[in-house]
Amino acid sequence: MARILITSALPYINGIKHLGNLVGSQLPADLYARYMRARGHEVMFICATDEHGTPAELAAAKAKKPVAEYCAEMHEVQADLAAGFRLSFDHFGRSSSPQNHKLTQHMAGRLKAAGLISEVSEKQVYSNADGRFLPDRYIEGTCPNCGYDRARGDQCENCTKQLDPTDLINPRSAISGSTDLEVRETKHLFLRQRDMRDQLRDWIKSKKDWPILTTSIALKWLDDGDGLQDRGITRDLDWGIPVKDGEAEWPGMEGKVFYVWFDAPIEYIAATAEWAEAQGLGDEAWERWWRTDKGADDVRYIEFMGKDNVPFHTLSFPATLMGSGEPWKLVDYIKSFNYLNYDGGQFSTSQGRGVFMDQALSILPPDFWRWWLLSHAPESSDSEFTWENFQASVNKDLADVLGNLVSRVTKFCRSKFGEVVPEGGSLGPREEKLVADLTEKLRSYEALMEAMEVRKSSAELRALWVLGNEYLQEAAPWSTFKTDPDLAAAQVRLALNLIRLYAVVSQPFIPDAAQAMMDAMGCTDWSWPGDVGAALSLLPAGHAFTTPDVLFAKITDEAREDWQSRFAGIRA
Ligand SMILES: [Zn+2]
Repeated sequence: MARILITSALPYINGIKHLGNLVGSQLPADLYARYMRARGHEVMFICATDEHGTPAELAAAKAKKPVAEYCAEMHEVQADLAAGFRLSFDHFGRSSSPQNHKLTQHMAGRLKAAGLISEVSEKQVYSNADGRFLPDRYIEGTCPNCGYDRARGDQCENCTKQLDPTDLINPRSAISGSTDLEVRETKHLFLRQRDMRDQLRDWIKSKKDWPILTTSIALKWLDDGDGLQDRGITRDLDWGIPVKDGEAEWPGMEGKVFYVWFDAPIEYIAATAEWAEAQGLGDEAWERWWRTDKGADDVRYIEFMGKDNVPFHTLSFPATLMGSGEPWKLVDYIKSFNYLNYDGGQFSTSQGRGVFMDQALSILPPDFWRWWLLSHAPESSDSEFTWENFQASVNKDLADVLGNLVSRVTKFCRSKFGEVVPEGGSLGPREEKLVADLTEKLRSYEALMEAMEVRKSSAELRALWVLGNEYLQEAAPWSTFKTDPDLAAAQVRLALNLIRLYAVVSQPFIPDAAQAMMDAMGCTDWSWPGDVGAALSLLPAGHAFTTPDVLFAKITDEAREDWQSRFAGIRA
């Protein structure tokens, strides 16, 4: 048994995420966590809401709520949706937790002691009307290059020119519209990432099993041009983790908070501490996952994320952990994803284009979405959601292949033998061949799941279902029954056991349907089929089962057309 630590990139707090966000890290991370647990490994699966920063403050202001209250409410909304999609986090934490405050302040203190923090005085725009410093992108004005009158302080989105806020003509606050702005001097802390370049390069080059794409992105950021730059870790905001040197005050930094990029990944660790507290366990319970001097040296740590997050997780976060000089567990493998597009364009949160997590669950069960998203995961390239493809894939794979097998076998058995596993008869060469074919496909499925090949795994799982259907088609117990009822009984006994086997191996993809299949078989034995032949005789003759309701109702053309127009844009 291995110990496997899995983290999913943290969803930001300011709204409900769309399906592209879901398949970009949380859902495939859940697939892997479920599979590893099913194989008997000890898993710690962690995610959390990322709650700090200006966008959270502005979303709260828009909702006319104090930011702490807004974040607490949105955390509950996101936690409920995660549960609705059956995301099996061991803990879904909050980056605003006391544990993260303490740990972030601790890390900053360690980095300071190691000489890896510099204090830099900067000039920044202050809005008197808003009573706050404005981040670059919250200053708007006229672009000096093209004359566009809504250019942002960091970039003009009309002509794409990179800007400084002081370049803007007639600058104003994007928050209040006030033009009462002034440039003030303010002090910030920077993480001296440049000083850690050699250490980071050695570490990245030691990762021989990482995809070339991952290491090349990291090395590019590390060495291209002027190379990796020092990075500000503080902000002049109210909402966030107060800047401290461990537990001590940091002279000159009163009233400032850590920048969200610094505290968010530390929440992976802090959320594990939140988990320990929620379980009534002591610090040793989470430290054995994260401190290599306290038991984490045999942990394998996998991070799931969108590809835009790769530089950050290969450079900045490791720089924090290494720079602390403490033996924190570093990532062993990064699984990253491209983007999911929506029906000929992009998902858009601002325009409400595409399907959002709450809407998805309001129209169909989670397994439908899980199956389609995972079997079309944007791994090697971007992928696209279309309603036609979704309908065809769900109807064919789930309803016609898996659902149909379960329905046919249980209904036939009920009508000829009653709702018990029938006795009598023995299996022949056709069944031996089925066992051999299933064994080969299952071993291949296991290898692909182990390697986090999400799409290929789904194809192999589907191939396992197809083998069962082909077998039933050829063996045709409904015909055999007329001439050789004993043989038909043996075939049906095998097929009922096959339903249980499918429940076990399909559970990581479609947990609700798997549970329904297992319940119908009157079984609670989720043991993984090592020996397929043995697994197919697990339910003995005389064992009672129930005939389940339809597992997967087909999506009709009318429903598809209705949804297609409803989700085309501008969310209410
Ligand atoms: Zn411009």
